[in-house]
Amino acid sequence: MYAKRVQELRPYAPGEQLRDREYVKLNANENPYPPSPRLKEILMNFDLEQLRLYPDPDASELRKAFANMVHVSSDMVYAGNGSDEILSFVFYAFFDSERTLLFPEHTYSFYPVYASYYGIPIRKVPLEKDFSISVDRLSSEESGGIIFANPNAPTGMVMPLSEIQRLLEHCPEDKPVVVDEAYIDFGGESAIPLLSKFPNLIIVRTLSKSMCFAGARLGFVIAGPEQIRRITTVKNSFNHFPVDAIVQALGKAACEDVEYYQQINSRVIATREWLTEELRLLGWRTLPSKANFVFTSKEGISGEKIYRRIKENGFLVRYFEHPGIENFVRITIGKQMEMEQLICILKKEFS
Ligand SMILES: *Cc1c(COP(=O)(O)O)cnc(C)c1O
Repeated sequence: MYAKRVQELRPYAPGEQLRDREYVKLNANENPYPPSPRLKEILMNFDLEQLRLYPDPDASELRKAFANMVHVSSDMVYAGNGSDEILSFVFYAFFDSERTLLFPEHTYSFYPVYASYYGIPIRKVPLEKDFSISVDRLSSEESGGIIFANPNAPTGMVMPLSEIQRLLEHCPEDKPVVVDEAYIDFGGESAIPLLSKFPNLIIVRTLSKSMCFAGARLGFVIAGPEQIRRITTVKNSFNHFPVDAIVQALGKAACEDVEYYQQINSRVIATREWLTEELRLLGWRTLPSKANFVFTSKEGISGEKIYRRIKENGFLVRYFEHPGIENFVRITIGKQMEMEQLICILKKEFS
């Protein structure tokens, strides 16, 4: 009854959404703070008559607002239904079965899923001992394209702009290099300034993490106008209207209230630094994070065991079974109070 390809699918496993009791959710890198209060106004005043009509297929107003926020022109921006969908279109547009796609061994685990979905051969490049991504390794391997997250997930480690530039200088102009900047607002330096020099650079963004939008689904591509046209062609061959009218209105308002998001994210960053220091004092190995999570381990205990004992205390974190990172847990930065409770739990359970 099913198409053969369905049997071969290996889907992405998202962070748990348990409903058996109330948990403090620190497992999906959601923002602990609410969206800008302006969004409530937009929602209350939304003219429901508009729902009768299809939304703007190009999300022009929204794209303009996002382009303004990141200081590029609107023809360099594409808007889609969350960056997971965006990544699907990017994979379809730039990678194929003829050329090997290269990415770091530990990075966003949706990349191998899409590669398998589209029949793209992959090669994983090991991380360095300190869990950083080596540009020398990425650029010395033969490949038809490269993708990585910056800051990387689940490590939280950032690649400096100068290193990204060095990578692009080593790549021929027809090799796509995709940088997934899902966490860039938490302390990394965006690769946007490199776009004018490197037409093969494609930047993926999401509003889910830094702009408290995970439930509404909105992501963007920033790239040259020609690349944006190609991605739009892919979109128009699949789904004309990936961003609904309400989300277009809400997203526009969000992009116009940058100050609000900077304010809440500076609190997330302060809490991250506080947590990192507390973990250090307790003897946990914590990687230096520029994201809204930390990746941490306690000698002699597996990530799964840490996860279980934290869960018994009503907090959810994430562990990974991949060899090399199986002793770590990824902890999303919550509100300061929640992190203080978490530290109490760690003291109780692990010392
Ligand atoms: C969360 C995340 C995404 C997906 O974001 P959505 O817009 O919610 O689909 C993409 N890439 C990375 C690295 C992420 O962490």
